[in-house]
Amino acid sequence: MEIYINWLQDHLLAVVAVCLTLVLVYHYLIEKDSGVKLSKRYRNSIFEAQSKVFLNATQYLISGNRDLAIREFLNAVDINRETIDTYFALGGLFRSNGEIEKAISIHRSLIARENISESDRLRSLKELAIDFDKGGFIEKAIETYKDVLKINRDQYEVIQSLCRIFEDIEDWDQAYNYRIMLSKVGHENQAETISHILVQKAKIYFSKGEFAKCHEDLEDAFRFAPSVSAKILRLKLFLTSGSIEEAKNLLLELLKEHPMYASFIFESLTEKFNAPEDTINSYFERVRHLKDFFLVMDEKDLFESPSVILSKVRLQKEKGMSDEAYKSLNSYMESNEIHNEVMKVEYIKLLIDLDLKDEVMKTTADFLSNLNQSHTKHYCSNCGYNSDEIFWRCPQCHEWETIQFRWKV
Ligand SMILES: [Zn+2]
Repeated sequence: MEIYINWLQDHLLAVVAVCLTLVLVYHYLIEKDSGVKLSKRYRNSIFEAQSKVFLNATQYLISGNRDLAIREFLNAVDINRETIDTYFALGGLFRSNGEIEKAISIHRSLIARENISESDRLRSLKELAIDFDKGGFIEKAIETYKDVLKINRDQYEVIQSLCRIFEDIEDWDQAYNYRIMLSKVGHENQAETISHILVQKAKIYFSKGEFAKCHEDLEDAFRFAPSVSAKILRLKLFLTSGSIEEAKNLLLELLKEHPMYASFIFESLTEKFNAPEDTINSYFERVRHLKDFFLVMDEKDLFESPSVILSKVRLQKEKGMSDEAYKSLNSYMESNEIHNEVMKVEYIKLLIDLDLKDEVMKTTADFLSNLNQSHTKHYCSNCGYNSDEIFWRCPQCHEWETIQFRWKV
């Protein structure tokens, strides 16, 4: 008992503080409870008032149905020639401002009007399709562009947009159909592009190991134009079927026509594809054979091109033939001034491999003092788009075969 009294004396202040706190908490809870009741009742009354006064108007007009709101607004105004142009301008403004939904509302309400001319209706439908297109509603854009063509087939921009969409989503069958249509409506020659599209189709068959179908589409591609990508794919088909002499001739032809594509050609040959193991093995065996053929090729003109020389040097290094690679580069440098940085780097690497210390020091010091910034591997000659990926069709300006190569450090 004495122990408890002593404890209470020692801790009296603390005990009083705890009791006071409990009382305060109790009162706080009671008041808080009634406070909630009050504000709830208050909120309910506001809500009732709001419902009566604002609900119909506000919800219906603003948040409920923007289409209807704009349509009523448009109907309220008497449309003449100038005002309809104003609405087109307004719709275009909303669209370029990223307010796609508002642009869609305006163009839809114009389409729905009874008292506009057929040409204005067609124009509205076209604008609506562009809204969907810009807004990323691909399916609706396709559908609406097609609706435009149902009314009038002679619509170059509309067909062009459909071409772009189908190429974007890599629907090559449709891309092909609309490109054909475009060639009939416009005056531009579409043969190169159609060839590319057919090659894309053929490439898909190749990657699945369906070589007969690949061959069929590829022959179609050649009927339109012998594009570089078509020739590279044909080269690969020769290798699958074992037509090694044809492959050699075609490789020579490709390198002579497009020496700048040299490294890309060899890169393409080693791309993976699905097929039975035997087929794949013998294909890659023939690729090795073709590379060996390239290394002993004796075409003076061909090895004037820095790209071809670099491909040769890299293939020689790949095979562990550093001495030969050094010889190839040296003989090139005897007759050509080297401006190409990658070529200099390859040269320095070779000197290191061959342990030519004095040469390394001298060449590296010289190289570093002249080093430029490094670049991406590829760029578009039309719009300057930069990428390390191969693009037959520029992702930025959508032109075909504008890719340019530069060697990357
Ligand atoms: Zn471009």
